[in-house]
Amino acid sequence: MSTSTQPTKKLRVLTGDRPTGKLHLGHYVGSLKNRVALQDKYECFFIIADLHTLTTKPRKEDIAKLRENIREMVLDYLAVGIDPEKSTIFVQSAIPETYELNLIFEMLITLPRLTRLPSIKDMARAANIDEDTLPFGLVGYPVLQAADILLPRAHLVPVGKDNEAHVELTREIARRFNRWYGEVFPLPKALIGEVPTLMGIYGKAKMSKSLNNAIFLSDSPEEVQAKVMRMYTDPTRTRPDIPGDPDKPSNVVFRYHEIFNPDKDEVEELKERYRQGKVGDVEVKKRLARALNAFLDPIRERRAYYAQRPDLIEDILIEGTRRMREEARETMALVHEAMGMYGVTEIRPRVEALLRRSA
Ligand code: ATP
Ligand code: MG
Repeated sequence: MSTSTQPTKKLRVLTGDRPTGKLHLGHYVGSLKNRVALQDKYECFFIIADLHTLTTKPRKEDIAKLRENIREMVLDYLAVGIDPEKSTIFVQSAIPETYELNLIFEMLITLPRLTRLPSIKDMARAANIDEDTLPFGLVGYPVLQAADILLPRAHLVPVGKDNEAHVELTREIARRFNRWYGEVFPLPKALIGEVPTLMGIYGKAKMSKSLNNAIFLSDSPEEVQAKVMRMYTDPTRTRPDIPGDPDKPSNVVFRYHEIFNPDKDEVEELKERYRQGKVGDVEVKKRLARALNAFLDPIRERRAYYAQRPDLIEDILIEGTRRMREEARETMALVHEAMGMYGVTEIRPRVEALLRRSA
């Protein structure tokens, strides 16, 4: 008789980013903060989706930037507290099974289903691609995402509202696979938190690297101070003694105070004096710069620690990718068994055995 109770297995999460370089406060608020919290409750896989950069940036000079971009992004991950002891950080292009599962999935979804997704059109527009220059792979990128999600057989996918449709598409692919070949995949769910969108420093658009309105997690205290001083406030307030409205959504200095200044009394007091025309923009901004720098200091400290240890970063990537590869092999063994293709199940292992022998 056994009285021991098995610990229930943690649900799996898959999420990640395309490696486009340094991450900013918008990434922190919109996804990184949540990821740090998810690590304890779930078994997290964080994908560095470098194959996805090929959809819009396939040229050699773009590919040459990936090494540095990946390094910067992993530094940011580690700096905010993503813990490689708890979570798996891996590089997508180093997982050959991804390419293979992508091809299998391509047969399980129709072209009109993909071209109807608004996200494809948005991505194409952002990359200056029109109907005639639209790469096959860009249309298919949600299928590649399905492979990313289902390869570790993830249950949950933290996404913003705009990506919810892709998780639904992944469920359709998983459902079809399971129905046609056999039960291999869980049907993943979108984990939609109330993901706030952080405005850029000029208040007109969301913070985005390509809009030149970002404060990076790796900015120095001086850079942060200078960017805060350029921030948008209330344009009707040309002098400190004119009453202003701190609650206008476009008054970003106060939006940032609300998010990043832990001293709520100070924020309320500044808002009150602002309404009465008793505080200048410079003081409001100086206090915001101080709060932001206090928030970023521990992040900078951890970033500096890892930045001095490039080998450690690479070890973390290798170990994470090894972990993911193990899962990928397990999943593909199930996929192969379920599909039962002669070439894959019988010819391939014998050829591989021959190649190993002659190596
Ligand atoms: P690019 O300019 O290259 O598009 P970006 O800075 O706009 O880069 P994305 O790669 O478009 O960043 O965003 C990746 C993810 O990061 C988004 O899906 C979202 O979850 C989060 N994110 C990015 N910017 C913000 C923001 N300003 N506010 C909240 N979340 C954000
Ligand atoms: Mg963007």
